[in-house]
Amino acid sequence: MRKKVYFETYGCQMNVHDSEKATYVLSEAGYDLAFEPAEADLVLLNTCMVREKAARKVYARINELKRELSRAANRPGLPIFGVMGCVAQAEADRLFERSKDIKLVVGTQAIPRLPDLVEQLENGFDRAIDVRLSKEAEFLELQAESRQTKYIAYITITEGCNKFCSFCIVPFTRGRERSRPADRIVAEAKALLEQGYCEIHLLGQNVNSYGLSGRYHGNSGPFDADGEITFARLLERVAEESGIPRIKFTTSYPRDFDEEIVKVMDAHENLCEWIHLPAQAGSDRVLRAMRRGYTRREYLDKIEAIKSSKKDISITGDMIVGFPGETAEDFNETMSLVAEVGYDGLYIFKYSPRPRTPAATYTDSIPEEVKTERFLKLQELQDRIQRLRYERYLGRIVEVLVEGASSRSSSDYTGHTRCHKVVNFPIKAEALGKLVKVRIAEVKSHSLYGEVNHPPLEFG
Ligand code: SF4
Repeated sequence: MRKKVYFETYGCQMNVHDSEKATYVLSEAGYDLAFEPAEADLVLLNTCMVREKAARKVYARINELKRELSRAANRPGLPIFGVMGCVAQAEADRLFERSKDIKLVVGTQAIPRLPDLVEQLENGFDRAIDVRLSKEAEFLELQAESRQTKYIAYITITEGCNKFCSFCIVPFTRGRERSRPADRIVAEAKALLEQGYCEIHLLGQNVNSYGLSGRYHGNSGPFDADGEITFARLLERVAEESGIPRIKFTTSYPRDFDEEIVKVMDAHENLCEWIHLPAQAGSDRVLRAMRRGYTRREYLDKIEAIKSSKKDISITGDMIVGFPGETAEDFNETMSLVAEVGYDGLYIFKYSPRPRTPAATYTDSIPEEVKTERFLKLQELQDRIQRLRYERYLGRIVEVLVEGASSRSSSDYTGHTRCHKVVNFPIKAEALGKLVKVRIAEVKSHSLYGEVNHPPLEFG
């Protein structure tokens, strides 16, 4: 009889896509997806360490699930609890030491071996773990028909990172950077079009260094596309050969971002008008301490290149406040950078140390109340900028992919524009998965509200 697996996924699109890959490999091993933990034989928490105290949250969540499930009627016993993602990779067997309920630890490169690990437990092993990292790890080839996301499909193009920014744990949890061969990426995009997908997201910790990894660290393993083509050429190939109506990509890393990418975006209608280009700080002193590898001026030059595009490209970013040693002057430079760029969206984080990272050895010198004060000040500035950026859409007709029912209103649906803004609007359920034209009628704090023509005008 087939069993059931329930996922709880935290963090970015990469993690959502990893859960999708794990679902795929487990389906081959006799597991179907459960939509409630109460139905599950296996519960997997797919974790992220961007937020603070991620490991502690895993233990708390497992205790909570345990309490809930021991009260659930019609359950023969508790499910197997497993942890995957960055916490699994970073904490490894410490997870077993600190929670006797955790039986399975799946490192970031171990997803293809998940069925073997589950089999070990089914064969009587008390615990199973795989946290090996290898520059030669193969990319998991996901079949288009086994996707969980209905209308937007994620495609991995790079995994890992070689940048070693001083605050970031990714190089330790995801390993050295590897680029997936372009032919496989293009083939996957073509298959997704045949499956009816309108939008794909090309994913990587640093998509712009696609094909470049070996140049910095000489790590070209057999599955590395090193030297094959650059990211700009890959974008061109995917845009031309797949024919998918909407292509987005994330995350861009400023040092490796170049004008050629903007030129390719200008030349291809199906490359969407959105670039996520995190600066992380506005002061050269802090950028140096973060080991970001670029100056404020160099970052702003990349922004200029994006703004000179003939398309109206939305720019979003990430910013850290309260990095060790950040002075009031440094923070003011972050404020002025945010004002100068005019981001369409900004994720702001208060700095907190991550284990094993170089910055964790620096004195975390900024008091919590100062971090909070800077966070609120920057957020307030960004809210004002964002309002103005959003107001430019008032009255415009934009193309939206209808992705699902709105959580706020029973009559509305929700979706994203090509520039990756959330739009809510009333429409019939038949429009789900379609590209429609929406006239923007109202600007809310982090979204737009629109109206459609009846019947809706479809694109494509
Ligand atoms: S480039 Fe991004 S993923 Fe890589 S180390 Fe820096 S912050 Fe982390």
